[in-house]
Amino acid sequence: MSFAHAHLLGIEQLNPFDITTLLDLAEVYVDLNRRDIKHSDALTGLTQINMFFENSTRTQASFELAGKRLGADVMNMAMQASSIKKGETLIDTAMTLNAMHPDLLVVRHPHSGAVDLLAQKVNCAVLNAGDGKHEHPTQALLDALTIRRAKGGRLQRLNIAICGDIAHSRVARSNILLLGKMENRIRLIGPPTLLPAPFKEFGVEVYDDMRDGLKDVDVVMMLRLQKERMDGGFIPSEREYYHRYGLDAEKLAYAKPDAIVMHPGPMNRGVEIDGEIADDINRSVIQEQVEMGVAVRMAAMDLLARNLRARRTDAGVMA
Ligand code: ASP
Repeated sequence: MSFAHAHLLGIEQLNPFDITTLLDLAEVYVDLNRRDIKHSDALTGLTQINMFFENSTRTQASFELAGKRLGADVMNMAMQASSIKKGETLIDTAMTLNAMHPDLLVVRHPHSGAVDLLAQKVNCAVLNAGDGKHEHPTQALLDALTIRRAKGGRLQRLNIAICGDIAHSRVARSNILLLGKMENRIRLIGPPTLLPAPFKEFGVEVYDDMRDGLKDVDVVMMLRLQKERMDGGFIPSEREYYHRYGLDAEKLAYAKPDAIVMHPGPMNRGVEIDGEIADDINRSVIQEQVEMGVAVRMAAMDLLARNLRARRTDAGVMA
């Protein structure tokens, strides 16, 4: 199995072969996670530290469960209450952690690029669990696995609509990169205020009307309106936004009859998506996304741990 990376910082650094390797291994973990006994020893003896400088529910829980199922010693650092509040720099925190000899560091940070910076300062594998508006690689990978399974093993030449608050979304950015690398046709749909011009350079089609944009798509990926990242009036009102861009049955009818509906969570029901659509087991794969999340994180940590062990062995041999 070849996955020549020391860290998982973004989709940008991965090629289609890396993506397929990771998704194939994740399939093995999907099966394991459906058994009564869900343990493997891929990370036995290794220490995983989760550092979340920004709130998270499913991503943190998913990484914790993934590490525990693979046998790692998992520690969650309560970063809200940490020395960061007392003025410690990110680098000082990294150096402190480094002295505890972690093997895997899972980091979420509100600033784009902070996780890359940290990865340069520590001696372990670093996984980006979301950095500002930049990347959220494990989300894009779990989305890809969900799509591949829902579409009978296919992850190429699909028409995929990513809808809503593209401008503030690391999920959108990582998905545009991944789905583009796998040669899908991507449409971005949203109000012009939430669709900044640089996205056009990614070779995507851009729509400001949901009905035009959703026509005949295979996948409808909705995004949360990220109010915490907005510093001004990007939309007239939530009511107006729902009316124009909220996914309801009427708008979904423009997509292919077998189109799936996705959302990374947390969802604002009645703002970007109608609750009934979100709960419709014939269309929505939102729960599958959560399930795939654990498997994809197990696969990512397993692959990085293999590389880490190989590097350490080489270093030992050379010393
Ligand atoms: N949970 C995702 C993220 O951390 C999406 C969101 O928050 O809307 O980026």
